[in-house]
Amino acid sequence: MQLDYSGKKVLIRVDFNVPLDDEYNITDDTRMQKALPTLKHILEDGCSLIIMSHLGRPLKKKKDDGSIDVEKFTLRHLVPHLSELLGVEVKFCEETVGEKATEAVEKLEKGEVLLLENTRFNEGETNGDEELAKQMAALGDVYVNDAFGTAHRAHASTTQVAHHFAADEKEFGLLMEAEIKNAEKVLHDSERPLTAIVGGAKVSDKIGLLEKLIDFADNIIVGGGMAYTFMRAQGGKTGNSLVEEDKIDLAKELLEKADGKGVKIYLPEDSVVADKFAADAATHNADSDAIQDGYMGLDIGPKARAVFADVLTNSKTILWNGPMGVFEMEAFANGTKAVAQAVAQATEKGAFSLVGGGDSVAAVNQLGLADEVSYVSTGGGAMLEFLEGKELPGIKAIRG
Ligand code: ADP
Ligand code: MG
Repeated sequence: MQLDYSGKKVLIRVDFNVPLDDEYNITDDTRMQKALPTLKHILEDGCSLIIMSHLGRPLKKKKDDGSIDVEKFTLRHLVPHLSELLGVEVKFCEETVGEKATEAVEKLEKGEVLLLENTRFNEGETNGDEELAKQMAALGDVYVNDAFGTAHRAHASTTQVAHHFAADEKEFGLLMEAEIKNAEKVLHDSERPLTAIVGGAKVSDKIGLLEKLIDFADNIIVGGGMAYTFMRAQGGKTGNSLVEEDKIDLAKELLEKADGKGVKIYLPEDSVVADKFAADAATHNADSDAIQDGYMGLDIGPKARAVFADVLTNSKTILWNGPMGVFEMEAFANGTKAVAQAVAQATEKGAFSLVGGGDSVAAVNQLGLADEVSYVSTGGGAMLEFLEGKELPGIKAIRG
């Protein structure tokens, strides 16, 4: 960050989309913690701070009478904790834009912090309404975007609003800078060999990433449910495993393309198979291309764990998106655990490792290994699109 904020009214978009329990207590404040360095950095310059964020999907979950469930989705719930984190009594405005918001901003003094109501209470937010963006922009002298998690959306508060500020009146926050720097390191400035681990449920979610990876990875490790579509592409028998029939040909193409480019794709040789999708299923190990009918692969098996760990510990750059199995159930968490440990080990040996994706990050946190990888991204969809090589609207709006 480079701008001087002294005496300014700073409008900042953060991602405070935190989970709340039934009594509206914050159950995980990671997203607030991640924005904290930026908020503190700006306040140190001696300015006033106007914070915008979304919380949940209030327009998709309206009350029976068609009105917004303000009680449930108001950002007011965050005021006490944010005040505590910043050491400043945070003020709240029940509007994002409008007369009350304008008045609250006018009254705001140096060192004060104002949290505006949920941006998604406004119909125009998610479709990037120009008028809404203009009203938002009018609230601040300068604009900062630190919401990487929504950078892939062209929303009013993340993208359109930035167009109303000159190049020297807007910039990224520290979190956004770190996300971009780490992703660009993997994409453009990586030590070799570079190994990408791609897992999760479906090939269809990760096609863009897989295609891009064939252009720049040395090794691609495929695990999770999507591995079985690849097994079928190779003529294997996958029993009741998750297979996307309409993606088998695509998997075949990806395998051929990788082969042509000298990129090595590692599929799990064996799997932990189960007779039902449940924590208490009867399980055994089987070759991933010879799974009996009535059984489904829910995790990579011991042979695959060993091969994958070996590839990873010999890698210099690692990108991980998607768990190796249904890690939410302990019986199918060993593959993800083994991979996480191998990534941590490689990192200790000097490799650069980046983990992205909501569930992959949850798995790494659950295993207590978040501090043992180089970077844990806060952006699921945003990181995926960035790595696919797409230009994210929230980033473009600042960079121009
Ligand atoms: P991320 O959020 O890290 O990008 P995804 O959302 O793509 O990951 O995938 C995560 C989900 O994939 C998890 O809920 C996990 O249970 C599921 N999954 C992993 N392996 C399998 C499998 N073999 N069969 C079915 N679902 C799986
Ligand atoms: Mg997910």
